[in-house]
Parts: sequence; C-alpha cells; structure tokens
Amino acid sequence: MYLPWHLPTVSHYNVHWSEEGGAEYPIPPAGDHPPSAAHVPLPAVLGSPLVKALVLTAYNRLEYLDVPEPAAGPEEVLVRVAYCSVCGSDITALEGRAFDVPEGMILGHEVSGTVAAVGERVRGLALGDRVALEPAVPCRRCWYCLRGQYHMCPQTLHLGASLPGGFAEYLTIHELNAHRIPAGLSLREAALLEPLGVCLAGLRKARLAVGETMAVFGDGPFGAIFARLGIIMGARAVWVLGHHDWRLERIRAPHVVTVNTAREAYLPALFAATEGRGADLAVAATDSTTVYAEMLASVRIQGRLLAFSYPRDSVTLDLSQVHMRELELIGSCRCPHTFATLIELIAEGRLAPGELISAVMPLEALPEAFAMARGRSKELFKILVELAAEV
Ligand SMILES: [Zn+2]
Ligand SMILES: [Zn+2]
Repeated sequence: MYLPWHLPTVSHYNVHWSEEGGAEYPIPPAGDHPPSAAHVPLPAVLGSPLVKALVLTAYNRLEYLDVPEPAAGPEEVLVRVAYCSVCGSDITALEGRAFDVPEGMILGHEVSGTVAAVGERVRGLALGDRVALEPAVPCRRCWYCLRGQYHMCPQTLHLGASLPGGFAEYLTIHELNAHRIPAGLSLREAALLEPLGVCLAGLRKARLAVGETMAVFGDGPFGAIFARLGIIMGARAVWVLGHHDWRLERIRAPHVVTVNTAREAYLPALFAATEGRGADLAVAATDSTTVYAEMLASVRIQGRLLAFSYPRDSVTLDLSQVHMRELELIGSCRCPHTFATLIELIAEGRLAPGELISAVMPLEALPEAFAMARGRSKELFKILVELAAEV
C-alpha cells in the first residue's frame, strides 16, 4: 500500500456495498473518533502541523487520519478547503474500478476554499482570496497545453486522483487552477463549479445550438445541470430521461420535459415533438452501458451523441448507424475554459447551483455521504462535505 504519510491511524471504515445497490457502512458512534491517537506528537522530521483528512488507504477502505499540512510550491497556493462535493467518480475511485487512483490518496476534486498561503512566484492570488478549484493540473508546456487544449495534457495531474484532493482540511494547487470567486457567490455554490463546468464543456463540444432539441439520459446531478445549461444555451427543449420521480420532479422546468422511462415510453412523444426527426443531440449522463442504444434510437439523421459519463463497463455501439445516418460521436472530459463563464452566470442569477445541494456533512461523515450517494434512495442530488463553514 502506498501511504505517503506513515502516521497513526485514528479510525477507519470498511465500506461495503450490498448487492441491491444499497450500502452498508459501519459509522462509528459519535465520540469514537478522533480518539487520543489523533494527537500523537508529530515526528520531528516532518516539522509541519497536522491536518485532518479522510484517506483511501486501500480500495473500499477510508481512514480518518492526521496528515502533515502540505506546503505550497513556488507557483502554488495553500487552500484551506471549505467544501468538497461528492462525485460519482469518487465512488468509482473508492472501489478501485477506474482512474488508477493509488491507495493512499485523498479523494475529492469538487472543491472551494480560501487561500491560506501563497508560493513565492504566485502573482494572481492573495491570502484570504475565496477560490473554486479546477482540478486538472496540466504541464502548460506541451503541444496540447500550448494550443489551449490544456485539459487534454498527457502530463495532467488530477486533484483526488494523482494529487491529494479536497476531503482534507488543506491542499495545495497551482495558482492558475484556483479561480477567485466574487463576494456574491457562496463557497457552497463554488464547490459545484467543477460539475457545472464539465457539463458546459460538453455542451460546447457537442455544439448545442439555439432551437435544438436535446435528449439527456440520466436524472442525476449531471442530468439536472444539463437541463439548466441547455435552456441557457438556447435549446428549444431538453428532454431528461430517467427512473427517479423525486429527481425528475425537481429537474422539470419550462422547456424541460421529464419522463420516467421505467413507466412511460418517450420515443413516440420525442419524435412527435420534432416532426418525426428525433433529437438533435443525445447526452449520456449515466454510466449505464445500454444507454448508447437508446441514444442511437433517439437522435435524428446527422444527430450528435455526447459520450459524457464514464461508462460502467465496455459499450457496444452499432457503428453502421453512425455510418448510414451520418451521426457524430463526441467525447468530452473535464472542464476547460468554463469557470469564468459559470461565475458570471451565477452572479447574474441565471444559474442557481444551490438547488443541487441536498445535504451538507462533516468530513467524519464522508463514508456515510458515499453510502448515501451510492444508496438505493435517489432522493438527492449533491452532497457537500463541509471542512470549514463560511463565516
Ligand atoms: Zn466530479
Ligand atoms: Zn501539457
């Protein structure tokens, strides 16, 4: 096991998922953590204060540890984490199913906080600045970086995957990854800029145009975000197709059609609403592997398919359809060039990410938050972990 800190275990959790999709998690009783071991004196060699973190010490195992406070490099800032929201990919990483996240990593990449220290070459940020973090840290020198496609940098390091992430009191990150937020934007909302950003980047890449009809498969947080952004970007209608009434009711809005596809057929209505053509764009906002067949059936001739969510398993796609109907299959990953736009849209009241926040929990409850996010009840969107409340 790779565990960079070699520090005493405070308490640990083994997280088990039941077959039905629910989660079993032994949450220790209040007061069981952090016990006295949390305050074991630092080895003198480390010489830095301890901060709290929930560490992935082995797959399906999180340990609540005291780790040394990280030190900002010359171009980095030290961020006191305020909020880190739970993402489906954190659960994938917890289970060791993808992303090559090493054991010993601190997960969490949807982060807001306050600048607590700056490296000697930092020019754009100052102590006390409130920031939202863009989690992919590129090299800024390679062919992709120099043409502005920095999110595809082959050298990318990623918060919560290859860099210690936001489920900790402090982290360090390159100053260009920390976006200052205005006074009117809360740190809670700012923790959601990354999930908003990946959706905005996806819709830009899929060239959603004014007057188009979009079909979004999946009624989770991403389905909700695609619905809001799709309308802002001028879609005539966004159809959100899912299985969860609670979520679909909250996603429904003017020009947003929601259908529980477990009960209702949607294709006849979708085709009727588009003069028999089908949607211009279909989005995979679920990890289901069968969704691509539905996307093929729902788009028009020369329609576009956006491969957005990381699929649970390998997907079979009928490429003869792509050929015969001149379809486009478009991939999208990460959130380049999106934060400034999102900050403005929220400041103007056109986007209200606070509506996605279903629960706010302390760091110690992260295993519970993971279990809720993974659990059978889908009566929630995003769970925020609160490291430092906004004052
Ligand atoms: Zn995420
Ligand atoms: Zn690069």
